[in-house]
Order: sequence, then C-alpha cells, then structure tokens
Amino acid sequence: MPSSQRPESVRDAWDLGRNAIPNLLDELEEHGILVFLLDYDGPSQVDGLCARVDERPVIGLGPGWPGDRQRFTAAHEFGHFILDDRLSSAVDMEDACNRFAGALLVPRTEVIEHLGKERKELEPRELYRLKHKYGLSMAGWLHRAQELDVISDSTYEDLRRQFDRRGWHENEPGDDYPSQEPSLFEELVYRAYSQDIIGESKAAELLGTSSGQFYRRRTMTEE
Ligand SMILES: [Zn+2]
Repeated sequence: MPSSQRPESVRDAWDLGRNAIPNLLDELEEHGILVFLLDYDGPSQVDGLCARVDERPVIGLGPGWPGDRQRFTAAHEFGHFILDDRLSSAVDMEDACNRFAGALLVPRTEVIEHLGKERKELEPRELYRLKHKYGLSMAGWLHRAQELDVISDSTYEDLRRQFDRRGWHENEPGDDYPSQEPSLFEELVYRAYSQDIIGESKAAELLGTSSGQFYRRRTMTEE
C-alpha cells in the first residue's frame, strides 16, 4: 500500500498521534466527511454504507450497534474513500478496508506495546480491557494480533472457536463500548431548514422524526 494510503498517514495528517481515538465520528466530521445514522428498520440490520454526494464523502451508519462496531464500520467505510480505485483488482477490497479500519483504530506500534511481539495465548480479560481503551472489539484485537503475527494462525483459530462457543461472535461479554451520535448532519439539516433550502417535512424526514417532534426539537420546547 503506498504511504499516502496507510492509516498511519491519516493519523499523521490529522494529528492523532498513535493513541486511542476517543471520538472517531467527530474526527471524520471535522475532516469533511458527513456522518449520519441511517433510519433503517428492515429485517436484517445494516452495518453502514458510503457514498459521495456533490463530491462530499458521506457515511451512513446502521442504528443500534454498540460503539466498537459502529466505530469499526465508520473506519471501514472511510477506508473505501481512501482505497477505492487505488488498489489492484487482485486485492479484496472488503478485506483491505477491514485491515485499514483495524490499523486506523489501533496502529501496529500500539498492538505490539500492549500485547508484545509474540504470544502463545491471549486472555479474554486482557482483550476486554483493550477494547475499552481503544474502542476496537475483542474480536478486532484478535484479528490485529493475527495479522501482525503476534499470535499464530492456529492460536487465532483456537481463540475464534472459543469466542463462537461462548456466543461472543454475536455479543461480546461485559459492558458495551458506548456508541456515539454524529452531530454535523443534524446541524446541517437545521441550517438548510432555516435558510429555506428544505421544508419542515423534509427536515423531519432527514432526522427520522415527525413534523411535530421536529417543531419541538427546533424550537426547544420538547418536554
Ligand atoms: Zn466495505
């Protein structure tokens, strides 16, 4: 991957250092990416999607996910903006974006610092603590450990089987990492409404609410 497309370069350009990114959605919004929660209530839950609207990158995130999954999805979709059209067709884009997301959330140096260069075993409690420190799921940490050769493929497979047996591939144990609400999208809707660019029903629809509720939110008269 050329250096300008590496997650470390994004961290450098955005002055993020190598530590945890406490509010990833804020960082994306501050750098011109519009993030909003999808108002979706279908049979299967959507993780996220990305698009360009008038050249502006937009990321939609499925509602109701725990924070670690929401962050990973946001980082993955952001990866599409950085990597799409720039990788050879031989590379699996979804894998590349997953790898990009993991590395953006926890750079290599941090993985090595916290886990060491080589491990025979990893403890669930250790992964749980790191999940809450970095906002990357326990399964995400396992992945990072494998792709950086901290653990062997067979250790990774053993640990994944343990996770599956305990149902952790669906719900990880302990507290969830808190999710976040994007803020810029809502600001833009209010601005467009007040400048008569969109009407009340459109604004309400964009915010996933009713016209009455939108009125009370806008005028700050909700109970
Ligand atoms: Zn993707």
